Amino acid sequence: MTATTIERIETRLVDLPTIRPHKLSVAIMHGQTLMLVKVYCSDGVSGIGEGTTIAGMAYGPESPEAMKLAIDAYFAPAMIGQDPTRVQTLMAHLGKLVKGNHFAKSAIETALLDAHGKRLGVPVSELLGGRRRERLPVAWTLASGDTAKDIAEAETMLEAHRHKIFKLKIGAKELKSDIKHVADIKRALGDRAAVRVDVNMAWSETQAAWAIPALADAGCELVEQPVASAAALARLMRRFPVALMADEILQGPESAFEIARSEGADVFAIKIEQSGGLFAAQRVAAIADAAGIELYGGTMLEGAFSTVASAHLFASFANLQWGTELFGPLLITEEILTEPLNYSDFALTVPNGPGLGIELDEVKVKRFTRDGFMKVTR
Ligand SMILES: [Mg+2]
Repeated sequence: MTATTIERIETRLVDLPTIRPHKLSVAIMHGQTLMLVKVYCSDGVSGIGEGTTIAGMAYGPESPEAMKLAIDAYFAPAMIGQDPTRVQTLMAHLGKLVKGNHFAKSAIETALLDAHGKRLGVPVSELLGGRRRERLPVAWTLASGDTAKDIAEAETMLEAHRHKIFKLKIGAKELKSDIKHVADIKRALGDRAAVRVDVNMAWSETQAAWAIPALADAGCELVEQPVASAAALARLMRRFPVALMADEILQGPESAFEIARSEGADVFAIKIEQSGGLFAAQRVAAIADAAGIELYGGTMLEGAFSTVASAHLFASFANLQWGTELFGPLLITEEILTEPLNYSDFALTVPNGPGLGIELDEVKVKRFTRDGFMKVTR
């Protein structure tokens, strides 16, 4: 039997419009760019992975363009001719050749797992130890920048049974107006919905210490990354009747260990891209479980491929106390899959087919692809 090898790798940038402007403390998004990587293997199997950021480079050091370049110039040449069936071995090899680049590594690992699942005829969740749940609760982010519009949007979501957990993006405005925004929304929704906030590191420690009790009084149950520094977040812990969540400071297993050691968060927002891939994110979850830190399945506002890869992983977690925010595909106007994902009854169904269990609509996606393909072969 001839050993299976990687024959060809394609990357492309897909620019998709969003259903409305998405306002965060770091930027206002009008569209989303997906970096898609497709790995072709000698046994005829291929897999797709995705790298996506929040607002270009406003959120973190990688961009979709940089991921594409890193894969074309560095990862792909090192992958051609390698064995795609030994995913962890290959990822460890690539980790030695390329430092950092967590998002690009996550995209490649996703493509390899998609391919290997298809090869073995099993969903990616089985390659990660097996799923413990078929459906994942999905929160929605209200980020129109306008309180009345956000309330109307939340009512529509409740009516449609799509979401009953709402995350509000705050931190760009003055503290008092942000707190009023949260209080007004929670008052309008009452017990019908949970309200959480994400500050995206916008506050100083003193601003956070002033604002968090007011948010708790307003009925907010969770405050995500109020400050930039891990030390400041740790100092804010256990002072307020509301859970504090780490997101931006959580950059893979080593950072997870440091945060756990300093009792620096109640909850981890786990993201496959920020962690450096699915296996790295799995290690982050193990550290959280061991430290008694609760888990939330986070998103980089990803398209269908990273969203579904995340869903396979989160479905396998022992604990997922705060649900997920895997709503990324719903923020995009275009359906890029041949069969849409099942979002219903406030949850996402984890696809059950081999690999990721989804198929890219090549014709549709071609219209939104920037400058065609970049092919890398030996
Ligand atoms: Mg966040």
